[in-house]
Amino acid sequence: MTAINQKETLGFQTEIKQLLNLMIHSLYSNKEIFLRELISNAADAADKLRFEALTDDALYENDNALRICLSYDKDSRTITITDNGIGMERQEVIDNIGTIAKSGTQSFLQNLSGDQTKDMHLIGQFGVGFYSAFIVADKVILETRRAGLGSEHGVRWESKGEGDYTIENLEKKSRGTTIILHLREGEDEFLNGWRLRHIVTQYSDHINLPIEMKKEDSDDKTEESGEEWEQVNKATALWTLPKNEITDEEYQAFYKHVSHDFDDPFAWIHNRVEGKLEYTSLFFIPVRAPFDLWERDHTHGIKLYVQRTFIMDNAEQLMPRYLRFVKGVVDSSDLPLNISREILQNNKIIDTIRAGSTKKVLGLLEDLAKDDSQKYQTFWKEFGRVIKEGPGEDHVNQAQIAKLLRFASTYSDTEAQTVSLADYVSRMKAGQDKIYYITADSFLAAKSSPHLEVFRKKGVEVLLLSDRVDEWLVASFSKFEDKLLQSITKGELDLGDLEDEQEKQQQKEVEENFKELTERVKKSLGDKVKEVRITHRLTDSPACLVVGEHDMSGYLGRLLKEAGQEAPHVQPTLELNPVHPIVVRLNKEVEEECFNDWTHLLFDQALITEGGRLEEPVAFVKRLNRLILATTH
Ligand code: ADP
Ligand code: MG
Repeated sequence: MTAINQKETLGFQTEIKQLLNLMIHSLYSNKEIFLRELISNAADAADKLRFEALTDDALYENDNALRICLSYDKDSRTITITDNGIGMERQEVIDNIGTIAKSGTQSFLQNLSGDQTKDMHLIGQFGVGFYSAFIVADKVILETRRAGLGSEHGVRWESKGEGDYTIENLEKKSRGTTIILHLREGEDEFLNGWRLRHIVTQYSDHINLPIEMKKEDSDDKTEESGEEWEQVNKATALWTLPKNEITDEEYQAFYKHVSHDFDDPFAWIHNRVEGKLEYTSLFFIPVRAPFDLWERDHTHGIKLYVQRTFIMDNAEQLMPRYLRFVKGVVDSSDLPLNISREILQNNKIIDTIRAGSTKKVLGLLEDLAKDDSQKYQTFWKEFGRVIKEGPGEDHVNQAQIAKLLRFASTYSDTEAQTVSLADYVSRMKAGQDKIYYITADSFLAAKSSPHLEVFRKKGVEVLLLSDRVDEWLVASFSKFEDKLLQSITKGELDLGDLEDEQEKQQQKEVEENFKELTERVKKSLGDKVKEVRITHRLTDSPACLVVGEHDMSGYLGRLLKEAGQEAPHVQPTLELNPVHPIVVRLNKEVEEECFNDWTHLLFDQALITEGGRLEEPVAFVKRLNRLILATTH
């Protein structure tokens, strides 16, 4: 026949080689997860077959009793896992078992530190899947045939997990996949029925189909009386049970099955909705963010079932993007069984389930934040930046999301984001009607910004925003309860009733007195600035830059440029501190060249303090040097 029948030796993708190597060394203390992963794949394969058979019953080949068989052999030191699920064709084996399609794999691998426990968690979030077989085996054989194809379409894959694998065609009567693990030296603990049963019930009790093992005492009878198999797991879909019949341990094990995580979940919420629509949802929040949370094509972790039949993984229509870290299951009684991804896009039932699911998760988070603020902090550290995408994405739930937000602020002056908007409002000064914030490139830049000076003097709290997403957050979200959010670097400073009439009168007079100076400075700086004015927001610094109320902040402009996008050119306003010695001195300067040097230096230093980049660094240095020389003479 064709060349495809021949035995081929193919190399693993580089990433897989690295991963295999790391896994074998860093997952050693958790090695029994290989069984969970292989059973999970077998269960997925059964789910896929059930789904495809909805429209093509012939795929069952007259055997619709889907199951997984697990056995071991002490003499050959092997463990065998067999399923009668969907199986794979030759090319599918090459695509699925020789390459990792996940984006970000390369950068993930670079992040591994070599520290065992740390790496173990990282790998746990990555999801090791099939390759975990090599933790305990030094040779793995996979034999498979896709459902519905003739027995000559079997495929045999074999690898020592070292860099390459062989693949050849094979006659295989039964559809589905068999995986044979040749255990490494020293892994004999797994050649034990009790141990294997224990792992199965611990991790896979509520997998949706039976996992069978040979009866322990039938070992010697097998030859004469045939094999006696018995089911070792409960095989009920966990989410279909009433809540009070499920233990925490069962929820935790089920989470590990759906998420492939090594850790227990952070929290979960299980609900049955009855009425016009009927559906069950079981959602988990992980402890740690998955490695690819920030990848553009990050997959959502919700599995969709219709009346207990698996329909699809990664059903992103069921959860908004800012909750993309949520894992779990939705099982609907109202959707048609033959629903496709395309139909999901514009489906009223899906929209309703999504709205309900979003509310559930937000409610869970709100409760966590209320009941245990410390625990909530650990959540916020991992996922806060994702939640901050919420107000922009989900206008309907803005008010509820706003309650979940946490920020750093001048109240504690630490980088930890612990201040809620409600905390802030409860501390507002008499006469204060706005929530003040500053955005900057880094926490330090925000915390030491000259714009904060007057607020510190008056004891008014300011939120310090330095996550990239904060710019988008404040752009889409302008009010908490009835309080406006106000950037302290935009527009003219208006402290409202925080200043009394006398202060305002004094300021007017000062502005009058400096009118000539501000006009001179504007002339000297020309187009660099839109306006020059006197400010009362500074106490220690001589000058600062502000942009108009509706202009893009300098920080956001830089973010856009970094991302290769166009940012509108914004002309800032230079504000001068009338009591600062440099400004006082400048007011007396008569010599034109010297005056010019001073004004440009003030502009440039204001730009630097807000994180901007000098347009002409050389000119800046020359001016600085001229002034230094002038003062040392
Ligand atoms: P994941 O399960 O997260 O996709 P795995 O490494 O566990 O990653 O498996 C890779 C792929 O190999 C699966 O997505 C599936 O397509 C295929 N596969 C693995 N085991 C089986 C099996 N028993 N039957 C059919 N396909 C399988
Ligand atoms: Mg898997």
